[in-house]
Amino acid sequence: MGSFIDARTVPSGTVLETDLCIIGGGPSGICLALALAKTNLHVVLLESGGMEFDAKTQALYQGDTSGAPYLTLEASRLRFLGGSSNHWGGWCRPLDAIDFEKRDWLAHSGWPITKADVDRYFVKAHSLCEAGTLLYDRAADFTQDPILKLAEGGVRTRFFQFSKMRDSVFPTHFGERYAPDLKKVAKLSVYLNANVTRLGLDKSGAKIAEIDVATLTGKHFKVKPRAAVLATGAIESARLLLASNDVRPSGVGNSTDMVGRFFADHPTPRDTATLVVFDGKLSPYYGAIQTIKGAIVRGGFFPSEAYRRKHKVMASSATVESKAELDALGKAAVAETARALGVDASDAVAYSLGCGMEVTPDPDRRLTLEAARDALGLPKIKLTMKIADEDFEQYRATLAELGRQLLAARTGMIRLNLSSRSEWLANLDWGNHHMGTTRMSANPKTGVVDANLKVHDVANLYVAGSSVFPTYGAANPTINLLALVLRLADHLKGALA
Ligand SMILES: Cc1cc2nc3c(=O)[nH]c(=O)nc-3n(C[C@H](O)[C@H](O)[C@H](O)COP(=O)(O)OP(=O)(O)OC[C@H]3O[C@@H](n4cnc5c(N)ncnc54)[C@H](O)[C@@H]3O)c2cc1C
Repeated sequence: MGSFIDARTVPSGTVLETDLCIIGGGPSGICLALALAKTNLHVVLLESGGMEFDAKTQALYQGDTSGAPYLTLEASRLRFLGGSSNHWGGWCRPLDAIDFEKRDWLAHSGWPITKADVDRYFVKAHSLCEAGTLLYDRAADFTQDPILKLAEGGVRTRFFQFSKMRDSVFPTHFGERYAPDLKKVAKLSVYLNANVTRLGLDKSGAKIAEIDVATLTGKHFKVKPRAAVLATGAIESARLLLASNDVRPSGVGNSTDMVGRFFADHPTPRDTATLVVFDGKLSPYYGAIQTIKGAIVRGGFFPSEAYRRKHKVMASSATVESKAELDALGKAAVAETARALGVDASDAVAYSLGCGMEVTPDPDRRLTLEAARDALGLPKIKLTMKIADEDFEQYRATLAELGRQLLAARTGMIRLNLSSRSEWLANLDWGNHHMGTTRMSANPKTGVVDANLKVHDVANLYVAGSSVFPTYGAANPTINLLALVLRLADHLKGALA
């Protein structure tokens, strides 16, 4: 039987030798440990928190932000077993093939792997998220409720699915849900309250030799693994790599100054547009989750892959958030448009649209270390946030395309609500989807990890999580990062055999 050990009971000076050390017990670390369960590998999983929220541990996540408005770093993630899945929304969607492609018009695009390389891990990733029958865009085939008719064009209805824990209204909280399974893994030891404070390179700087662990009660011990996987989320993984600078002054894996760059999240501005449906009959899955054939789904409007390629646009989604009241001008515009189109809009209903946008990759949207330190002596992290006007403009153009298709189908119309940068920023929210800070690349000069998620210039260190995404798509990251984690597990089975 595997074991859960409170690191505060481990005597200082202890050295634990193991095949693999997984750092971080969020969805990535947990699912990696489970995927290696049937191997002969001895695995140590180090998790900073315990089974529940603790304010002192959470405070280790404090950091600063500057630039464009963003969330406080402490509030946009959680530091205990299960990580940020303890308050995630459960939205799931796979990335599209185009998201992996090198696009000449998009600087820094192109993953060193294709969608086909991860597709076969998706069913398992989907089941780890407990997201029900795998339907996504086939959801409309199994319901009487019609999709909103749009004319031929760039935008179409597609579907999200949702993680739901059995007998619960909450999405899967990976710590609580999978702790019993972790305890059944014979050669796994999970250390709780175990904070990694240093990734120790050997003298050559080419290999991880030891990992320093500290508890908030003052205990210090080390793990000496054959290989290690950093799975502490996109902000903390970059922080640990940068702060472990005793052997290489620029930190671990940072010889080409890539660690911490290209930070990304999905902006989710509210009330970006008002959608008017002329006959007032909008299928319920647009505005709220619906259960269809054992899957919890919700529809949204997405630019198609063909449209994105042709018109060089980033990924996005638009979702119906709530009913909206039209002002006198809006009502007049609906009446006039309906009259011009020769349709009856006497039952028209208006809705507010929200959105999820992909941002263009930007090396200067980045994490750096600060002079101030946390309670364990680690430098705090600072995020310099940026968002380009072109990102807003691209999304606005996609909404305009949706409006064109509605008018051409004579089913509805769109009013665009946000124009200036200040209007977009005033309505801005974020998905809490931290990505990009240890990007995957074939060339070490343009990224931190290779196609197997191994840090380019360190022989035995890997990174798991959405920090490895070179571009971001509009899909929710967790199910996609779990597919990559399962692929990493297969690689480690070979590499450590
Ligand atoms: C409010 C919110 C809503 C979200 N909604 C969605 C959604 O609907 N759909 C979606 O796909 N994604 C969503 N996400 C994102 C999702 O939660 C993450 O993609 C997912 O949790 C990432 O898993 P991870 O294991 O890679 O990282 P994390 O969940 O961040 O886990 C990292 C783990 O590492 C531990 N750790 C950190 N530092 C150390 C250290 N020094 N030593 C040891 N352990 C350490 C932490 O305690 C934590 O358990 C949401 C996030 C938030 C915050």
